[in-house]
Amino acid sequence: MPKVITQNNKTYYQCRECGFTYREKEWAEKCEAWCLEHKSCNLEITEHAVKEPAFLEKSES
Ligand SMILES: [Zn+2]
Repeated sequence: MPKVITQNNKTYYQCRECGFTYREKEWAEKCEAWCLEHKSCNLEITEHAVKEPAFLEKSES
């Protein structure tokens, strides 16, 4: 089940396997299901991921 992230009053859903984040829960669920089964990412799914800098804060030291 994707992780729910709330940021700037918006809700996002993150695949727990690969870490890609989506606005639609449906895509996050598809991504996670794919990642679990195939141990890799499906480009047709990950192209729907959000690519906002806010989600890159993890690597901030
Ligand atoms: Zn994934």
